[in-house]
Amino acid sequence: MSSVRSTCPYCGVGCGVLLTPKGAGGLDVKGDPDHPANRGRLCSKGSALGETVGLAGRLLAPRVDGQDTDWNSALDHVADRFSRTIAEHGPDSVAFYASGQMLTEDYYVANKFMKGFVGTANIDTNSRLCMASTVAGHKRSFGTDTVPGTYEDLDEADLVVLVGSNLAWCHPILHQRVLAAKEKRGTKLIVVDPRRTASCDAADLHLPLKLGSDVALFNRLLTAIAEAGALDRTYLSHVNGFDAALETARADSIEPTGLSSDLVDEFCRMWIGTKRVVTIFSQGVNQSSAGTDKVNSIVNCHLATGRIGTPGCGPFSVTGQPNAMGGREVGGLANTLACHLDIENAAHRTAVKDFWDAPRIPEGPGLKAVDLFRAVAKGQVKALWIMHTNPAVTLPEADAVQAAIKGCDFTVVSEIAATTDTSVLADVLLPASAWAEKDGTVTNTDRTISRQRSVLPAPGAAKPDWWHIAEVAKRMGFGSAFDFANSAEIFREHAALSGIAGGFGRDFDISGLAEITDSEFDALAPARWPVAGRRGGRFFADGQSFHSDKRMRMVPVAWRAPDARRAPRFPFRLNTGRVRDHWHTMTRTSLSPRLSAHLAEPFVEIHPVDAVNLGIEPDTLVEVTSPTGRAVLRATISDATRQGELFAPIHWTGQTAPTGRIDALVAGATDPFSGQPESKAAVCAAKAFNA
Ligand code: SF4
Repeated sequence: MSSVRSTCPYCGVGCGVLLTPKGAGGLDVKGDPDHPANRGRLCSKGSALGETVGLAGRLLAPRVDGQDTDWNSALDHVADRFSRTIAEHGPDSVAFYASGQMLTEDYYVANKFMKGFVGTANIDTNSRLCMASTVAGHKRSFGTDTVPGTYEDLDEADLVVLVGSNLAWCHPILHQRVLAAKEKRGTKLIVVDPRRTASCDAADLHLPLKLGSDVALFNRLLTAIAEAGALDRTYLSHVNGFDAALETARADSIEPTGLSSDLVDEFCRMWIGTKRVVTIFSQGVNQSSAGTDKVNSIVNCHLATGRIGTPGCGPFSVTGQPNAMGGREVGGLANTLACHLDIENAAHRTAVKDFWDAPRIPEGPGLKAVDLFRAVAKGQVKALWIMHTNPAVTLPEADAVQAAIKGCDFTVVSEIAATTDTSVLADVLLPASAWAEKDGTVTNTDRTISRQRSVLPAPGAAKPDWWHIAEVAKRMGFGSAFDFANSAEIFREHAALSGIAGGFGRDFDISGLAEITDSEFDALAPARWPVAGRRGGRFFADGQSFHSDKRMRMVPVAWRAPDARRAPRFPFRLNTGRVRDHWHTMTRTSLSPRLSAHLAEPFVEIHPVDAVNLGIEPDTLVEVTSPTGRAVLRATISDATRQGELFAPIHWTGQTAPTGRIDALVAGATDPFSGQPESKAAVCAAKAFNA
């Protein structure tokens, strides 16, 4: 069989892959030389994809109350319980928790089901943990959640700044792109990160600032830009809020960063002295109780210098998940609508309701992830559907979330894996098609829509996620609105709806694809939106935003300390993050021996001085406690982590390492604008573990 083009299911780089089934369920995976994201390259995770397909651990049949059953019985049961719950307690008594692993078509159907037909905005997604602060920051500055940059900007920049991003491990193919630019045109690289990560190996400058102090650093940069006379007055003629933003920035000091003034001056000198600057930011910015302000502090510097909307320039959020962007496009967050329309806007709501011919539409935002599971714990949410995510491991206060799901009246989980920390708590388990079995689209970090294609048969009774939802919707009486034959049909409806968004002057408009045939959808080549959009070309070159007055906004932001305060009992701050070769809760990557060999068990990185003070020896066990939980981890003693701070990876579960569930330690403090939890600055204590 000849190879089939598809897209890697891991990070938001969205690399193209060539898939060739080898028979007996095997799969050969190579990089697609024609995909614009990776041009044939794959990282360690992508190149091991062929080792992660197969039947090991798969859920093969619907399961109700622990017993395998047939689809009709399971779907009837889910529809009946959801219908009865809504009838007795109202639409807000049910909730849906989705995932950046879902394809755009799955996400579209889930959002339509909940917002248009159930009539609640209680649908949120694990993307809340990933990039919600970027969404909120973009909307404040640009009026919409528009990523201004493209991957070509990395090839054309003379300075790339990584803020809270270990690009070398978390988006390796983009990192390779930066290294290639360094080789070719001498691009400089600055890393702003409390830890000395693998991304620092090639850096010209590393700023190991204190956790949570990014706003203070970028406010100093904005002040220095003004002092150096480096403002772009022409671009600023399109921008509101400059005076207030600068005044607020001037009132901040660099003291919270813990950096020397010489180091900060060198950072400002390099940034200001280089015309083509891309500032890449990721979870170190987003996962913070001040995440939205951090985003705007970065965007402010680009707006003040006009370094946006032109080649080699711009603030650039890199998303963690393969389809976080697609989820944002369909409105998969509790505070968004569809196609970047606003749920608070009555005209937008009416237009979407009419397009869907929906009976109802919620009049405001629903519960964001942390609040959603708190509502489950309080019994306010009585029926919950979780799709392709493992909140009993990944949400802050994971022990409390686990208890909340266990105590929920009725929980449905759509999954590929038979046994996860979350699925073992479900009343109903629905078997889902996995990557390489399912078919649809994803959108990567630079707005490129790519196809994921099916090359392997789904095992047992597994079915696509959109089919799970559509079948329940039909049984709940929502009829023809969910009568989809395939993912192409869903994509066409999504594209047509985006034409309405374009009519409202929104950025996301792919209506030029609304009439494509099934075979054209099957052959769809990677395409970066706007596709047939009304504005075309590069965003923000003309200085026009998507606010109603078309003007950009600089947002005054002042540094705030992380939400949780250190105390004598909890003197450390805990930073969390990924490792190079694992993904999320390791459902797939743990199936590959070579990926598992990189870092075999959960660990905590601790500074040598702290280790001596605590009497902790290398490779011994450390007990880490916080006000919300406890973990036992292997000690890695390294000055890569700042004194007084610890680092631990997020991947291990209650099943892979019972005391390695790191998010049990993380408090549920959230950003006031984005609702994104502060996953990188929990307070904690550490001591040698004595079993
Ligand atoms: Fe997959 Fe990301 Fe690696 Fe590309 S960089 S191969 S998308 S994990």
